Amino acid sequence: MAKIHIIDVTNRDGVQTARLGLSKLEKTMINLYLNEMGIFQSEFGFPTTRHESFYLRANLELAEMGVLKPIRLGGWVRATAADVERAFELVPGIKHLNLSTPTSDQMIQGKFQGAKSQEDIICMMTDAVEAARAHGAESLGVNAEDASRTETGFLVRFGSAAREHGAQRIRYCDTLGYDNPFTIYESARTMAENVGMPVEIHCHGDLGMAVANSIAGAKGAIDGGQDAYINTTINGIGERAGNADLVATVLAVSKSRGFAEGYQLEKPVDLGKAWKISRFASYAFGVPIPIGQPGVGANAFVHSSGIHADGVLKDSGNYELYSFDEVGRGEPETVETGSEICAGEYGGISGFKHVMGRIAVRFKDPGQAERILELARYANVATQRPLVEDELLFIAKYPGIAGKILTLIPPD
Ligand SMILES: [Zn+2]
Repeated sequence: MAKIHIIDVTNRDGVQTARLGLSKLEKTMINLYLNEMGIFQSEFGFPTTRHESFYLRANLELAEMGVLKPIRLGGWVRATAADVERAFELVPGIKHLNLSTPTSDQMIQGKFQGAKSQEDIICMMTDAVEAARAHGAESLGVNAEDASRTETGFLVRFGSAAREHGAQRIRYCDTLGYDNPFTIYESARTMAENVGMPVEIHCHGDLGMAVANSIAGAKGAIDGGQDAYINTTINGIGERAGNADLVATVLAVSKSRGFAEGYQLEKPVDLGKAWKISRFASYAFGVPIPIGQPGVGANAFVHSSGIHADGVLKDSGNYELYSFDEVGRGEPETVETGSEICAGEYGGISGFKHVMGRIAVRFKDPGQAERILELARYANVATQRPLVEDELLFIAKYPGIAGKILTLIPPD
């Protein structure tokens, strides 16, 4: 039976959201947390973008060291041979790529202004696939941007050409959030049956259906006999109204009525990490988690009205579909209300040693403490907010890698 895999795109679609962004260290922490959760792949950035290079290479090094393992790290590029060449020039160790090009008449006309036909789009994409294979890419997904406004016949031809040239997945992008669960089911199923290759489902929430569309699309792909890959972002952060929320999608796949009887994740995702990853993304993006967010919102397990409260007191199953500890909640959190020392970009050694002592980090000599402090200062320049414990622990444990992640060298 075909299965569902999760490809989280927070570090690609999430960070390209207007007015929001993440530092390279924050992106690294997201990759680490996704790996801990058991997520199949993180779309970890843009290998053709120069300021990503050090971060991407350092994260690939973490993968080689076994720190970012078994998660796969995939880059996103436009589906042109030139972009693929540049990706391998800037990030030679990259192994997994998604190659993206618009497929709808609206976008082919609207973006290329009559300079490209459907056949040109297919040629550009297959050239890009060939170029990536020539560089030894291990897995390739091909993205049909605006697939939901693309005529099905062309989508099938586009996907089939990708498969024939050696791609492993076709990404069906509902770029504008135009689909509904009924239409995306049919489209994904048609793609799976006629392209004969696993289908990625990439949904946006412009009409409030990103999660529902994602699981309907996954069902379509599986009913069509192919594996499904659902694209998510943490807290649903993404362009405009956002993407399918990671935690809500995993909850929907595993807990919604009858779904898991026929459609399952390829391997379990540890929802016990949901609270931690959502809280970190909220802090790093500077975007509060909505009060009613599934699983991780402040009100997700709160009851006040008489009949509900009485019901939960007798048996939480009366009004809760799943328990708070399943999503990693329930641990008390301490908030400092008195004097506090925190690390910052202008911090000194005394305060820094105090902060690190609080999280049980001991330095072997003053030189080591100075080096870690310097790295923490650089991290603070990028984040402009106090680092969380896990970030400080990461820097202390992997100072060499942290130094690379924090490196930004503008061109002359
Ligand atoms: Zn998107």
